[in-house]
Amino acid sequence: MKQHFDFLSIGGGSGGLAAAQRAAIHGAKAAVIESARLGGTCVNVGCVPKKVMWYASQIAHMLEDAAGYGFDNCPRGHDWGLLKERRDAYVARLNDIYARNLQRRDVTLFRGHAAFVDAHTVEVGDQRISADHVVIATGGKPRVPDIPGAALAMVSDDFFELQRCPRKVAVIGSGYIAVELAGMFNALGAEVRVYVRYDGVLRRFDPMLRELLAAEMSRTGIRIVPDTRLAELTSVAGDQIALIDADGGTLWTCDKALWAIGRIPNVAELNLSATGIKSRDNGVIISDEMQNTSVDGVYAIGDVTGRAELTPVAIAAGRRLADRVIGGDRDRKLDYDCIPTVVFSHPTIGTVGLTEPEARDRYGDNVRVYETRFKPMYDQLTGNDTRAAAKLVVSGTDERIVGCHVFGPGADEMLQGFAVAIRMGATKRDFDDTVAIHPTSAEEIVTLT
Ligand SMILES: Cc1cc2nc3c(=O)[nH]c(=O)nc-3n(C[C@H](O)[C@H](O)[C@H](O)COP(=O)(O)OP(=O)(O)OC[C@H]3O[C@@H](n4cnc5c(N)ncnc54)[C@H](O)[C@@H]3O)c2cc1C
Repeated sequence: MKQHFDFLSIGGGSGGLAAAQRAAIHGAKAAVIESARLGGTCVNVGCVPKKVMWYASQIAHMLEDAAGYGFDNCPRGHDWGLLKERRDAYVARLNDIYARNLQRRDVTLFRGHAAFVDAHTVEVGDQRISADHVVIATGGKPRVPDIPGAALAMVSDDFFELQRCPRKVAVIGSGYIAVELAGMFNALGAEVRVYVRYDGVLRRFDPMLRELLAAEMSRTGIRIVPDTRLAELTSVAGDQIALIDADGGTLWTCDKALWAIGRIPNVAELNLSATGIKSRDNGVIISDEMQNTSVDGVYAIGDVTGRAELTPVAIAAGRRLADRVIGGDRDRKLDYDCIPTVVFSHPTIGTVGLTEPEARDRYGDNVRVYETRFKPMYDQLTGNDTRAAAKLVVSGTDERIVGCHVFGPGADEMLQGFAVAIRMGATKRDFDDTVAIHPTSAEEIVTLT
């Protein structure tokens, strides 16, 4: 059977769903093909279940701190299995909502794995589906290195399948997923070591954030092991895993190990060779600023493009694409500059724009930095020796803000509004002229001197 559509998303994750629904709103006959659960990485094995785990971890930290505020007999036990059950039920509700949203907008959903027959036609099982506009939104999956025993370790997808908290966990990697999962394991009771290849975590973030997060991770009992050259994983005593370094020495023996060393695009089974679409050696589909691939009428959005791999980016790229190719808004495209992002560490990180070194590379001596470090009010009574911080990176005589970096409680919720102002071209003077909200950590950002 063959069916033809105006607009087709391959992948029912953040980007594919957003694009197809927006196309339908503009009047297109639209369809989505999804091989797994609707909602993709974000809803099923990414942002959503992760944030639930972060809330649980945050509660664990607050229970530890509660004595400082006069509470006694705070509960210590935690039922990971029960949390998983409740989290899975929440995710299942979201899966249903996504399916209903497609129905409501009259978007046809095909369940199955799509492979190209030609650039505008795919096969899903025994069906052939073609479209004038085809969007590749197949996302990515965790990268596993090619070393002996690599399969003994989990990846982030498996984190969400765990029935209980392991006793000893090695997280291998230095990016935000490594940091976040390490923090959750630690807060919920595991002994955690983070093995990194170079000198520390979050290498692409501002040095202030890296330094403070590393200190806070150490303070809460997470050991970061730098300069690791992992050569092999071996199974020990049946259910333990030994991490072996390049010299053959055992680095650690633990219950679970987890690869968090990056993600690769989901393209292997798409049969791209039938299309002429160009991709890089690592599988990333090459697309221009309008999301066009090298083939007319075929586009790529989201993680499969290897750019700013975040849910709101995939959604925004998808919606703008549909606005352009179906809605007729000819120049509509996503601006990839100045994308705010948060790391759900403990405490959180919020960051937007250039890091201090990036700004100095781009603007040279025209850069000025305003920074403050302080003990958060919350920790005045907990006894925790913590530091929060805020940094503004400004450029030029008008001191336009080109970077804003925040570390501390509430940084996650704080940054969105500042990101709007910075995108609109706010200067340091605009921040100075904004009356502070007191007492908050956010006020530090408008009172920097
Ligand atoms: C642990 C973790 C935590 C994260 N936390 C955050 C966060 O806090 N904030 C944030 O913004 N981002 C976060 N992300 C990133 C975010 O999840 C992704 O950037 C986002 O999901 C990308 O959307 P996408 O549409 O490109 O791909 P996906 O959401 O991955 O969707 C791709 C879909 O395509 C389907 N598919 C693949 N191949 C085929 C095929 N051939 N046929 C049919 N279907 C196919 C897949 O099954 C999948 O459902 C996190 C990611 C992970 C792994």
